[in-house]
Amino acid sequence: MSIRIALSAAFLMLIATSVFAQPPVAAQQTPATSTAKPEDTEVWEPVPPVVTPGANDAAPPSDAIVLFDGKNLDEWVSAQDRSSARWTVGDGVVTVNKAAGNIETKRSFHNYQLHIEWRIPANITGSGQARGNSGVFLASTGPGDAGYELQVLDSYNNKTYVNGMAGSIYKQSIPLVNPSRKPGEWQSYDVVWTAPTFNDDGSLKTPAYVTVFFNGVLVQNHFELKGETRYIGQPFYKKLDGAPVKLQAHGDHSEPISFRNIWVRELP
Ligand code: MG
Repeated sequence: MSIRIALSAAFLMLIATSVFAQPPVAAQQTPATSTAKPEDTEVWEPVPPVVTPGANDAAPPSDAIVLFDGKNLDEWVSAQDRSSARWTVGDGVVTVNKAAGNIETKRSFHNYQLHIEWRIPANITGSGQARGNSGVFLASTGPGDAGYELQVLDSYNNKTYVNGMAGSIYKQSIPLVNPSRKPGEWQSYDVVWTAPTFNDDGSLKTPAYVTVFFNGVLVQNHFELKGETRYIGQPFYKKLDGAPVKLQAHGDHSEPISFRNIWVRELP
């Protein structure tokens, strides 16, 4: 072999050695020093409070505020004038009375976990937004439809704009998937609501966030809201400090829907 070929071979070996070289020692995983102990990273306090879970995951745990247990509407009032809530209670469920308008909780809430079940009647008629329309206003900010609406609708086989289907944050956030059940079957929302906060001058300090499981399936994943629900126009925030949860008596002419098993857990 000539000197030239030998030098070329040596050069190629040098390149190959550097390309496939082991990482330098400093880049490899550093072992724990001899003085570190497992206990150094153990946290013992504060101890989380004990909560007794419900008999099943839909039943209220021991620290929940039960808003409707099938018996009465003692926790609810008319959203129009705060008079008694005049929806129909029977057979352990509450059914929308469209003539009576929206109802909302007597209590106000900030951040919370909410469980609520709803059923579109098996004989539902209508189409689009006029088929089992209702809604859970996660924070009611006044009479009528003022607030932040998680839409309720028959979306089993019912086409409408997708930011207005069941599981949507109305006109703000499309659900990730559509896990709707057939009319006549009970469905559930499990919601984690983080209320917006405001500065003294009314400007927004931190936005609202919402996570929603619809029939156990994640449909809203820590969505950052742009403001209150607006039927027409873009959403915007208005200062509030605690708000009721409100249920919608929508003005469409389809058969009224029902709710049951409503409970909430206040969060820090
Ligand atoms: Mg609605």
